[in-house]
Amino acid sequence: MEIINRTQRMRSVCRKVRRDQEKTIGLVPTMGALHEGHLSLVREARRMCDTVVVSIFVNPKQFAPAEDFQTYPRDLTKDTMLLADYNVDYIFAPAVEEIYPKGFSTHVEVEGISDQLEGAARPGHFRGVATVLTILFNIIRPDFAYFGQKDAQQTLVVRKLVRDLAFDTEVVVLPTVREESGLAFSSRNAYLSEDDRRAAAVLYRALAHAESAYGEGERNGRKLAELVRADIEREPAARVEYVSVNDADTLAPLERLDDRPVLVSLAVRFGKTRLIDNILLNRTRTGKTGALTSV
Ligand code: AMP
Repeated sequence: MEIINRTQRMRSVCRKVRRDQEKTIGLVPTMGALHEGHLSLVREARRMCDTVVVSIFVNPKQFAPAEDFQTYPRDLTKDTMLLADYNVDYIFAPAVEEIYPKGFSTHVEVEGISDQLEGAARPGHFRGVATVLTILFNIIRPDFAYFGQKDAQQTLVVRKLVRDLAFDTEVVVLPTVREESGLAFSSRNAYLSEDDRRAAAVLYRALAHAESAYGEGERNGRKLAELVRADIEREPAARVEYVSVNDADTLAPLERLDDRPVLVSLAVRFGKTRLIDNILLNRTRTGKTGALTSV
């Protein structure tokens, strides 16, 4: 395993892998502070691809000024040890100036799908995500890139980005990995106090409640959202930012649910920590590994 900090080195390594060895490259883009969710993506990349690159880059452009860019957990040593166990070929861990050199002024905006939910709550977030992914895709030119359903809207933004800008990369989306309590793994869980961490298990319980109500025939989108909100509001430590029921592909808000796949998503604060989670209803899974679909 080699740790690469320089764009030029990363680019030439990937060029060599592709040209001389005709090997496939899988990219797992992350912001580090790795956990089981990230590792599920790495495992699948390892299974599918000859060469696996994990990028670790806390991308300043996807944080708003008042957000947690400065305090975001960083532990490259621990991350490196974990990834060595997973037989990763390259870690790409560039400094900010390496990705955004002085004078950088080009940004990528995926219009429409970036506007609602997380995009509305965090203006500029998806512009930052689309911009850094465009740069990473151009440096590495991966055959496959791996993303978690945990960030549901991000997966839609990435698919649209890849389609619209004709990247030669297949997007693979994998299911959300959860702790035993149901709490989705997240680097931001490190911010939670022990009490809040316990309390945060309510998010998955509430989403699972929506899933069972849907299973029993509830087709009113507003009622499903209310049910989730009410469950969470019974937990005193939780402050709901939004609970939303949307078409899982277009993010159009849904009143009446029909046969289309549905995304129930939420953002909730515990103290200063903002957590997101979601559940997909009515989505038929494909593939042995539960990969949700690919472009
Ligand atoms: P991040 O480091 O938070 O930018 O996440 C990097 C990738 O890991 C993204 O594609 C996330 O969706 C994915 N990811 C984060 N948490 C989870 C999780 N609990 N289960 C599956 N994938 C996850």
